[in-house]
Amino acid sequence: MLKEYHIGIDDTDSHEGMCTTYLATLIVDSLENHGVEFLDFPKLVRLNPNIPYKTRGNGAVSISFISTTHKIEEIWKECINLVKIHSDIKAENTDPGLVLQIGKPDPRTKKVYYEALYTVISLKSMKQILNNNFQGLYYSIKEGRGLIGACAAIGANLYSDYTYEFIGYRDPSIKTSIRMIDEKSVIKADQSNPLSFGNYDYVQNQLMITPHGPDPVYVGIRGETAKSVIQMWNEIKIQENIATVMLFRSNQHTQPHFPKEFTGKDIKPYYSVKVRGVVDSAPYLITGGHVIVSIVSNGKTINCAAYEPTKKFRKLVRELITGDELMVYGGVRPASDEYPITINLEQFEIIKLQQQIARIPLKCPHCEGALKSVGQNQGFRCKKCKYQIDKKEIGFQFKKRGLYSGVRYVIPTCAQRHLTKPTSRDDNLQFHLPSEESFHKEFHDFLKNRENLLKHPLI
Ligand code: ATP
Repeated sequence: MLKEYHIGIDDTDSHEGMCTTYLATLIVDSLENHGVEFLDFPKLVRLNPNIPYKTRGNGAVSISFISTTHKIEEIWKECINLVKIHSDIKAENTDPGLVLQIGKPDPRTKKVYYEALYTVISLKSMKQILNNNFQGLYYSIKEGRGLIGACAAIGANLYSDYTYEFIGYRDPSIKTSIRMIDEKSVIKADQSNPLSFGNYDYVQNQLMITPHGPDPVYVGIRGETAKSVIQMWNEIKIQENIATVMLFRSNQHTQPHFPKEFTGKDIKPYYSVKVRGVVDSAPYLITGGHVIVSIVSNGKTINCAAYEPTKKFRKLVRELITGDELMVYGGVRPASDEYPITINLEQFEIIKLQQQIARIPLKCPHCEGALKSVGQNQGFRCKKCKYQIDKKEIGFQFKKRGLYSGVRYVIPTCAQRHLTKPTSRDDNLQFHLPSEESFHKEFHDFLKNRENLLKHPLI
């Protein structure tokens, strides 16, 4: 008899090595050997980016397929073995979780996904779900915290917006932080593939597709369509051996982690929040080059921070003035001895700009020198040429602001997190395929062509 199954997996890697997506790739290989019918691409979901337990990007993976029921016991055993062999369980914070859902995803997994995107879920509540009429099996090592991400990945809804990530892996025994790659070929390929994004940061002149850790990911190429990321991969010149490749469908860069509006009074540590508020004082710079702006929301004043790595974004934050109404988006950093509870800004949107009034003339009409008031209600004098302007000659006009209502101001590519939606994606939904059948067919096409994608280095 044929049946639908979903496998979820999370928390298998550490800062010293391994990668949950690589392990998921090995599971796909094992399932392929068992002749299953894949229903979709494997799903790479990113969850709340502010979770303290995360290793890097808080990612989890699920794989959906149809199999004959008599094979599932063996498949499950193989998955457990792969988790045992390829998880870095010696690392203190690695707590692998593996879940097998039999039949369609339990509606509770959908709720877990929704909440895992922006809140903090307790392991106890997760186990209550898995131990209470859950149609499936689960396996965990140590604390088993990975069960949360594994369940969330099974329940992930990637239909309204989604992206793709093509990953080329090196041999996992290689632990160097450097990836040898021809940077110019990446820039060239990026410019000829508009549907692949985030490959290169042209402001910081930085390659974005190569990670810097000891994990097996050689490159991760992201884009709107499966075709665009494969095309990009085909065009770049690699300088290392590739062990295997995989193509994931993902919630990356779709910004699903701000589903709910919070007020200043109900934000909680580690949550991802969007908060509407009014700027209550001029933004200021603190040690380290970080910019702080405070807003009042529901009667509570909240600090919002644009950190140094957000580079030019800080300039935009400094353009804000008292009275500007905005929606801020970011992660909640708990209060410390030094700082109050703070929203780490990922983006802001202007709801209403405060009008700013400027004096005219602003500078001396003769020599452009700075003007100085000669006293209250008494006109101005040029500091340089001493030209005097009478009070009656002074006028006022609205000052042009460097910000616009309705615009999303997002942190730059080099500082973006996996879920951040770059402004370049604002119009791209039209490229998405309409039905589940397309994912099924496209993934099978990818598997058929996979061998041809194992490129050899051009050294
Ligand atoms: P990588 O991105 O390299 O795969 P990671 O950054 O995903 O690593 P994990 O090792 O998976 O980090 O650790 C994240 C842990 O947090 C997992 O155990 C996951 O189940 C758990 N987790 C994820 N989201 C939530 C959430 N919203 N609430 C509670 N726990 C969560």
